[in-house]
Amino acid sequence: MSDPLLPIGKRLDLAFEFGKGAWLYTRNGDRYLDFASGIAVNSLGHSHPHLVKTLKAQIGRLWHTSNLVRIPDGERLAGRLVDATFADVVFFANSGGEANEAAVKMARRFHAAAGAPERYRVVTFTGAFHGRTLAMIAATGYSRYLDGFGPKVDGFDQVALGDWSALDKIITPATAALMLEPIQGEGGLRTVDPETLCRLRDICDERGLLLILDEIQSGVGRTGKFLAHEWAGIAPDIVTLAKGIGGGFPMGACLATRRAASGMVQGSHGTTFGGNPLAMAAGNAVLDIVLDVDFLKRVVSMGKLFRTHLDRARCKYGDLIAEVRGVGLLQGVQTVVDARKFVDALRAQHLMAISARDNVVRFAPPLTVLPREINDAARRIEAACEFLREWKLQPQGQQPEPENVRTTLPVDGRSEDMEPLS
Ligand SMILES: *Cc1c(COP(=O)(O)O)cnc(C)c1O
Repeated sequence: MSDPLLPIGKRLDLAFEFGKGAWLYTRNGDRYLDFASGIAVNSLGHSHPHLVKTLKAQIGRLWHTSNLVRIPDGERLAGRLVDATFADVVFFANSGGEANEAAVKMARRFHAAAGAPERYRVVTFTGAFHGRTLAMIAATGYSRYLDGFGPKVDGFDQVALGDWSALDKIITPATAALMLEPIQGEGGLRTVDPETLCRLRDICDERGLLLILDEIQSGVGRTGKFLAHEWAGIAPDIVTLAKGIGGGFPMGACLATRRAASGMVQGSHGTTFGGNPLAMAAGNAVLDIVLDVDFLKRVVSMGKLFRTHLDRARCKYGDLIAEVRGVGLLQGVQTVVDARKFVDALRAQHLMAISARDNVVRFAPPLTVLPREINDAARRIEAACEFLREWKLQPQGQQPEPENVRTTLPVDGRSEDMEPLS
């Protein structure tokens, strides 16, 4: 049968029928422990009772108006985001890429409104990922995403993180902003240390630039703070969110100080779907859970527990794991074998993970993950390592595909205790 979907990615022959908490269930009753959460999207796991209840009620009430009228839930969500962060204003979009587009437009407009329209360039950093729109592949600056799509959108310059002299040279009177992820997700869980973030903030202040943080992956509690940059104690000018903010419902947001947003006036930007009532209901429901201090403390302790397991695996399987990386519930390992094979081997043990650049295996479990689920994941990681150790020793060409291995760990979803998650 010919595939009716545009073949832009390799799809696994695996489909899920339903999900509950950190578990995904196939039609034939097998279950998988979901330490991918989409790609760090299902922040409260699957079928979270509060999200289900809120969205069901909203679906029966109102899906869409336009933002030509007031959307009270959107005003409320924006207010809550403002109260919880550095920001004064919020723009709602439908995806991360769109939130980033809004951020870059805002930065350019800031300088234009201040009488310096020639300041439009944005400096980004190698290993970045900012999305797949034409402008964001230019911001990302990764040749594989740029190839064959015509001239790269002008206005983005890239340097290596930590190369201060290169950064100094690349900033010119045409520069409007610096843009980076506090933890590079797709780039391989490279964490920007607090000193570096502080120094970048200082450079922005000295040179009159705006600091844009792309927290699309690291934000909304993923690292144990509501926003990851809070660990460094700095104040950005603009922050973008998406992924986890809707708990699985597509939405994005661009948060800014009033000053940074000062160029954005009536008519300067727009969206049809952004901030729609369904998305706003989802966003508010996620905040009901995530904004609780105890919730974030729990994320920190779950992150520590997971770290202990990953460090132990690194000690025991140094021939397979080179390094443990990441923060909170966005952690992973740089592998010695091909990270994609490692992910296949984990999936054979019914543990879902995601590969990233730099040969990294990334884990982003639901923020609601339970200690016993983290311990279970550790057993599956160990089983995958045991398999890969054997696999590595076999001559090239004669190695079985890791994904075809059958696990001996429990996978039967029907026998699983089905008690509701709190
Ligand atoms: C996923 C991601 C994006 C792009 O988000 P989309 O919703 O796919 O457009 C941008 N930046 C970062 C850091 C991301 O992780």
